Amino acid sequence: MSELRFEGVTVRYGRALTAVDGVDLTVPSGQVVGLVGESGSGKSTLARAAVGLAELAGGRILLDGVPLRDRRPLQMVFQDPYSSLDPRMTIGDSIAEAAAKGPRGARRDEVARLLELVGLDADRASTYPGALSGGQRQRVAIARALAGRPEVLIADEITSALDVSIQGTVLNLVRTLQRELRLSMLFISHNLAVVRYVSDIVAVMYLGRIVEAGPARDVLGNPQHPYTKELLAAAPRRGSTSLPPPDEALRLVADAEPADPHHPPAGCRFHPRCPIGPLIRTDREHCLTLDPTTEADHRLHRAACHHAAGVLRAVGSNPPVLKELKEDLQ
Ligand code: ADP
Ligand code: MG
Repeated sequence: MSELRFEGVTVRYGRALTAVDGVDLTVPSGQVVGLVGESGSGKSTLARAAVGLAELAGGRILLDGVPLRDRRPLQMVFQDPYSSLDPRMTIGDSIAEAAAKGPRGARRDEVARLLELVGLDADRASTYPGALSGGQRQRVAIARALAGRPEVLIADEITSALDVSIQGTVLNLVRTLQRELRLSMLFISHNLAVVRYVSDIVAVMYLGRIVEAGPARDVLGNPQHPYTKELLAAAPRRGSTSLPPPDEALRLVADAEPADPHHPPAGCRFHPRCPIGPLIRTDREHCLTLDPTTEADHRLHRAACHHAAGVLRAVGSNPPVLKELKEDLQ
C-alpha cells in the first residue's frame, strides 16, 4: 500500500499552454480517488506526469513521501485497449513482458494467474488481441498493468471506449481488484456517473486546476463549487438513463464561450460560465479578478469558489480547524 501525492504540480506543453496548473492532490493508501472534469481539463496530463510520460514544470510527485524516481510501483491503464496492446504479440507474451523476469514455467504460471484474476481463461494466453472484444482487451491491459505488481494503479478513461453494455463489468472488475489487492488508485473519467461508482474521494478538475475535492459522499452529496453542481446536474441519476432538465441558471450560461486552456480567464477561471458568478450577479465583480484557488489542502472538503457555503469557503476567513469541519460534515 502506498500514498501518491501531487504537490503544486504544473505541466506545460510548449510556452503557451499550462495544461496542469499547481495541482495538489493526494491518493491515500488503499483508496480510490476519482478525478473528473470535462475534456481538455488536464486529467490525462496529470496522469502522464505521474508515470513519467510528461515532464514537470513545477512541483513534485511523492510516493509515501519520497519523490518518484523509479516508476515501477505505478502502472497505468489507458482508454484505448486497441492501441495499448501489440497486435503481433500473443496476449500471454504481452503480459509476460510486463511481469518480473524468471524461469519460463514460473512466467507461464504468472500469466495464467493474471488472466484468471481479470476473468479470462488461462488457455487464452496464446490468442492475439485481434481475436478479442474491446472489453476482453481492456481486461488484458489491466492484467498487463498488474503484472508489474504495482502499488498504485492509474486508470485513465478505461471504460470510455467500451460498449455501454460492458462498461459495468469492467468497472466492477477494477473495483474488486482494487479492494482485493489493496491498491491505491487514481481513477480518471469525464463521466461523473462512472467516477461516483468507484471512488472514495472525488476531485473535480477545471482548466488545469482542482476546483473541488473531498470524500465522495460530501462532494457528490453536498457539492460546493458551481462547476461540480453543473456536472452533477448533467450526470444521469443512479438507476436512471435520462438526463434531468437543466436548471434555469445553467441555461443562462449555456451560451458562454467554451473554456480555452491557452487563454485561461483571470480571477476565477470558471467565471465566464458560472451560474452564480458575475454573468448573472453583477455585484460579484471580484470573481473577475480574484483567484479563489484554495491553499487549504488540509481540509477534508475544499472548493475553490468565493461563494461556496460556510466553512468550505476558500478565501477570506482563516481555515477552519479540522475537527470542527469533520463535525460539520457529519
Ligand atoms: P483531459 O485528459 O482532461 O481531456 P488533457 O490532459 O488530455 O486533458 O489535455 C489538457 C490540455 O493539454 C488540452 O488543451 C490538450 O489539448 C492539451 N494537450 C494534451 N496533450 C498535449 C500534447 N501532447 N501536446 C500539446 N498539447 C497537449
Ligand atoms: Mg484524457
